[in-house]
Amino acid sequence: MAAVRPEFRAEDLVFDPRDPVFGGPPCAVSGCDRPHRRQGLCTSHWQRWRGSGGVSLAEFAATAEPGWHGHLPLDSCAVAGCNYGAMGRKMCQRHLRQWHRAECPDLAEWQAPAPLLPPDGPPPACRIGYCSLWTRGTSVFCYGHDIRWKDNGRPDTDEFAASCEDPGPGQEHIDLRRLPAGLRLEMQYVLQCRGDEQDAKLPPREVHPLAAVLAAAGASSLLEQPEEWWTALDAPGNGRGWRPFILDARRRVEALAFGAGWDTEYPRDTWRLCNLGIDQPAATISFAGIPQPWLRELAKRYTRWQLATGLSASTAGSGARAVTRFAAWLASLPGPPAGLDGVTRPLLERYLAVLQAEMGGQVRHSNYVGGLSGFLKAIRRHGWDDTLPATTAIYPEDFPARGARLPRGLAAHVMAQVEQPANLGRQDNPAYRLITLILIRCGLRISSAAGLAFDCTVADADGAPYLRYYNTKMKREALVPIDDELFRLIGEQKQRVLQRFPAGAPVLFPRQSGNLNGRRPISSHTYRSALCRWLEDCDIRDEHGQPVRLTPHQWRHTLGTVLINRDVPQHVVQKLLGHASPEMTAHYAHIHDHTVRDAFDRYQQQRVNTDGELLPFDPEGPTATAEWVKHNLSRVRDSLPNGYCGRPPQQDCPHPNACLTCPDFQTTPEFLAVHREQADTNRVLIARAEDGGHFRLATNLRRVQASLDRIVPALEAILQEGGSDD
Ligand code: SF4
Ligand SMILES: [Zn+2]
Ligand SMILES: [Zn+2]
Ligand SMILES: [Zn+2]
Repeated sequence: MAAVRPEFRAEDLVFDPRDPVFGGPPCAVSGCDRPHRRQGLCTSHWQRWRGSGGVSLAEFAATAEPGWHGHLPLDSCAVAGCNYGAMGRKMCQRHLRQWHRAECPDLAEWQAPAPLLPPDGPPPACRIGYCSLWTRGTSVFCYGHDIRWKDNGRPDTDEFAASCEDPGPGQEHIDLRRLPAGLRLEMQYVLQCRGDEQDAKLPPREVHPLAAVLAAAGASSLLEQPEEWWTALDAPGNGRGWRPFILDARRRVEALAFGAGWDTEYPRDTWRLCNLGIDQPAATISFAGIPQPWLRELAKRYTRWQLATGLSASTAGSGARAVTRFAAWLASLPGPPAGLDGVTRPLLERYLAVLQAEMGGQVRHSNYVGGLSGFLKAIRRHGWDDTLPATTAIYPEDFPARGARLPRGLAAHVMAQVEQPANLGRQDNPAYRLITLILIRCGLRISSAAGLAFDCTVADADGAPYLRYYNTKMKREALVPIDDELFRLIGEQKQRVLQRFPAGAPVLFPRQSGNLNGRRPISSHTYRSALCRWLEDCDIRDEHGQPVRLTPHQWRHTLGTVLINRDVPQHVVQKLLGHASPEMTAHYAHIHDHTVRDAFDRYQQQRVNTDGELLPFDPEGPTATAEWVKHNLSRVRDSLPNGYCGRPPQQDCPHPNACLTCPDFQTTPEFLAVHREQADTNRVLIARAEDGGHFRLATNLRRVQASLDRIVPALEAILQEGGSDD
């Protein structure tokens, strides 16, 4: 524990009142040096103000004595010649009693008797140096100080007097004297870390009760007991603050003692990701729910491998949860398998049936199946355990059918209300308002927006502004163009940040509390709560008059859908939204997409097959479903240059590159030019094949030609009926 510096080695830690973590800006009472704790006042001035009966804060701050509450001279009895301490009605105990006996006459007129003094003159002055009041009875203190001495458990009178004379740090110190030496050193180390990090305030008076619990615990080191033991201790007050404090403290001490990294974390049943250098919201991954040691070991190996390949902590954690659930189910069986060799395919089938019954249709259903499938595959592929039966595997058909994902973009009606300046103005926190605008206009994920860097704008060669953000899902930086208004608003936000953190802060939206150096960005959760309150304030309603509940992510969907409906090319939208694949963008487009819808309608009315026959619209046919539209119009169209594939998307093509002779092929007039061109080329090819003696090829080409000769006139006929050739 050489890690503790001398200034933190004191048994009774006193801090610089201006320390950003343990102290703070000074109390509003002039001359009072203590840090302000409540409403601009130090704790004792605040208490005195509360007891002052209705004086305004400003008046109190301007007039109050800077001395500490409890360290000022006490009032003496108001009766002339009496120097006993006042008890009630500004009189000492004796005079008060005499006044009562006289049946409480008017105080101004009452002729109070002179004080009864001992025969050898007035009693000595109170033992406390600054108090000149007479001592009370046999006590060495005046009336008031005697009460306080008794309240303090009748300590040594000289010590008590000394402690009153030197006000000391009051509540602004952390007394670790009661802790055993080892534990004290650990606490000193923890406090030093908290002081160095300067993330959150830690007022000493909040540490006092925690130190008391530690002292009563009877342990000589935090590492002597596991985390659960510490968190289960009787916490002070309502227990708030104890759990995070003790967990944090124990982890720091453990990391100091054993170091961080895989060697420390791997054997644990709960991995603390911060110790693995993973700075992601999911703070831990737990294997504690896996009762079988052999399965737990494999689950850890699987999870470590996943993390090592760069998967996010939440994905790896979801895999661990899938194994945990399976393990718990195995353990609940009457004759649970004793090893991996007992995990058979029939067992898996039973488990899949249980999952289906419990959570069929929910998204997590396929997460649980997928997590387990990946786990089994990894065991086999990496040879982690050869006893895994050869047939134990999960097949693609075992996965639940993917339910239709409905478009989640917001109706224009709702967006119009959201974007009304009057409504935007209702959000009184300008930072939240700016985040809202960034989400709406740039379609960022909330995690990307909340974590924007302070320097997040760049200009291109023409001076047009861009927002630079970190795509939290794809783990890469990205740029999105912004308008001048957003650029200006971001500039204003920077000014606000600089006002709060004159030395600068690395983030554009610093967290409100627990963020002394401005390093921590606001959390998505904080923004979401503010969003909920704001929506309620604005009373935003849908077209049925119902209050709207929306998530920040819906703005992303909305932007994607609006852009595609305005005919912004899909690859541009993909780039703007930072999608990894065109499929993700296609999902945003979905059936809200008029472009696709129009093509679909045209297609439905104008399809011909390779015989040139007009195909009737069959609402039961595979091509009638939105799924088919999505699959074909946005995907297969790219690969078929001359029409559409009519096979259900689940079926593979049995004869690629032969569409023109395939019964599943369908085409529409928009491909007429392609067909005409191909017919011309094809004729040349047939002639060449015949000249070269390639009769088999020539036969095939003639079959294609026959289709084309039927398709082209049929499409021309459709166009003539429709009267347009575009
Ligand atoms: S050959 Fe037939 S099944 Fe294959 S892609 Fe072309 S139309 Fe579809
Ligand atoms: Zn004060
Ligand atoms: Zn008196
Ligand atoms: Zn006194």
